[in-house]
Amino acid sequence: MTWDIEVDVAVVGGGACGVMTALRAAGDPGLVVAVFERSAREGCNAAISSGSLAAGGTRFQAAAGIDDSPRRHAEDILRASGDEEWRPVVEALCAAAPRIVEWLADTGYPIEIGTDMPRAGMTAPRLHTDTGRLGGARLMRHLRALLAARDNAAFVDEARAVDLVSRDGEVTGVVVAQNGALQRVRAGAVVLAADGFAADEALVEQYLPHLGTPFYGGVSTSTGDALPWALRLGARLRNMGAGLRSGLVVVDHGTRVSPALPFNGAVLVNLDGERFVDEESKGYSSMAGVLRRQPGERAAMIWDAAAMAATRESEMMRECLAAGAVQDRATLGDLAASLHLTTGQADRALAPLPGRRRLTAPYHLAWVTHGLLATQGGLVIDPSGRVLDEAGAPIPGLYAGGGTACGLAGPHSDGYLSGNGLLSAFGMGWIIGNHLAERTTRAQVQ
Ligand SMILES: Cc1cc2nc3c(=O)[nH]c(=O)nc-3n(C[C@H](O)[C@H](O)[C@H](O)COP(=O)(O)OP(=O)(O)OC[C@H]3O[C@@H](n4cnc5c(N)ncnc54)[C@H](O)[C@@H]3O)c2cc1C
Repeated sequence: MTWDIEVDVAVVGGGACGVMTALRAAGDPGLVVAVFERSAREGCNAAISSGSLAAGGTRFQAAAGIDDSPRRHAEDILRASGDEEWRPVVEALCAAAPRIVEWLADTGYPIEIGTDMPRAGMTAPRLHTDTGRLGGARLMRHLRALLAARDNAAFVDEARAVDLVSRDGEVTGVVVAQNGALQRVRAGAVVLAADGFAADEALVEQYLPHLGTPFYGGVSTSTGDALPWALRLGARLRNMGAGLRSGLVVVDHGTRVSPALPFNGAVLVNLDGERFVDEESKGYSSMAGVLRRQPGERAAMIWDAAAMAATRESEMMRECLAAGAVQDRATLGDLAASLHLTTGQADRALAPLPGRRRLTAPYHLAWVTHGLLATQGGLVIDPSGRVLDEAGAPIPGLYAGGGTACGLAGPHSDGYLSGNGLLSAFGMGWIIGNHLAERTTRAQVQ
């Protein structure tokens, strides 16, 4: 076998998991690390994400008087997912999360605890975000700049991995298509960080037919490229019917309203003028299923000036406002007309649930529907990110994290808790990168 390039660590995909893996592995100056990215121009989900990082037990929470811990975080995730079998992975990720958030801050990233970001299923405020609320693009720019400053790491763009190379069941490299030619990259370890398959209609139809035809809100590069390569080597798939869904997608715009709106009094009214759900009781992924069952698969999200003031600085609301996705209604009568209701019917629909406040005019309105943002099923890994085969043994030389690996939602999309996506990606990147760096250090000592 002839090789075109030799590295210690080859990372497939330069999004959240891939860049974090590379940064941590390259912390060992004895390792040469290469990230092969299909297309930074088309982008990764991390860069279009809200950039909200779930972590329990950070110094930012402590400073805000919030009592939280990795254990409590893990219990929240497992309560939502019911996926006890995945507990070791969940606990490993939750243990890494506060260290990642604090490390990010120490690298100069402006981060804070989002005390104004309540989410269903979260027993303590634990979403951390950049101080300007600019979303994931800013975070990914920061991380890629850190990687660019490393002498022993390269980010190779427009380089789509197309296959793995293996010998006697051990992964020895990866084949990359670049400038019309195939490059054979020899690697001591290959890390699959190419995200899931939500952009591949046939795979979504195969594994998630129950979603119907949702709006797709992720990037075009999530086509599940890495899954067949790993399956050929005996890897296993898990929880393939679960997705990160959103019930906050604005019809005709594709932007999302803030998940904090229901916690500030916003109500949902369907085309029949019915209030059909306790808005605070559902996470946005689970709300997607509720919306799919409504007439026209949509409902009006209605809120007022106080709710707007509490949420407008989020990147999601800024995008909605810039897109013209929010309608204003001065009076209850105006609002009722938009909902094809009488003023009395609209007044009844807005009646607050026990313990909640009543919205007051003027009102804001957005018609929301369900969307799919990313898939949550994927390869079975162990808590170190090693890809496991049918017998539960690690496939030598092969790691996976982020959306390529099985996620944290459990078997159903309803089990997705806010922040799970980047936790899986950054968390497993952190774990795998550290593991690879430690492994060579140990090998050198021996
Ligand atoms: C709109 C939106 C908002 C979100 N908001 C949040 C949030 O606030 N908090 C949260 O926790 N999660 C959020 N998520 C989920 C989160 O973004 C993902 O779970 C996370 O980015 C997955 O990380 P990843 O590294 O697996 O994939 P990505 O970040 O998508 O990176 C994968 C990379 O692999 C590349 N790639 C694909 N195939 C190949 C190939 N064959 N060869 C080389 N490269 C390849 C892609 O081009 C891409 O750059 C959001 C998702 C969306 C879509």
